[in-house]
Amino acid sequence: MAYDPNNIFAKILRGEIPSHRVYEDDKVLAFLDIMPRATGHTLVVPKAPSRNLLDVEADDLAAVMAAAQRIARAQLGVFEAEGITLTQHNEHAGGQEVFHLHVHVIPRRLGVELRP
Ligand code: ADP
Repeated sequence: MAYDPNNIFAKILRGEIPSHRVYEDDKVLAFLDIMPRATGHTLVVPKAPSRNLLDVEADDLAAVMAAAQRIARAQLGVFEAEGITLTQHNEHAGGQEVFHLHVHVIPRRLGVELRP
């Protein structure tokens, strides 16, 4: 499937719409999810255009996962998380709603369910 440069995360990357940025390097941007399923819920995206896991270049995927690991470790301290949930959706049938690759990094605590 083709990449649509007008998706909302592409607009965030271009600075056309605001986001709460928590991490950035030359390949990756991470920002808070606008409808967090838990406090601190963060999205990690590659700066290069990629629709999802099915078309991403290996080096961009590696950079996204390395950033997700850094953020997950930081969430342990910042949000007193006891665990971390990573989710990542691909295509409509896989639950994807925004068509720029992203990994959800969600701090978890025992006994606390994710918000819907
Ligand atoms: P799902 O909504 O089923 O998790 P995705 O994996 O495509 O589907 O996730 C899209 C995520 O993007 C949602 O968690 C949504 O809250 C978030 N989102 C949408 N618009 C923005 C925005 N402007 N800033 C931050 N997060 C956003």
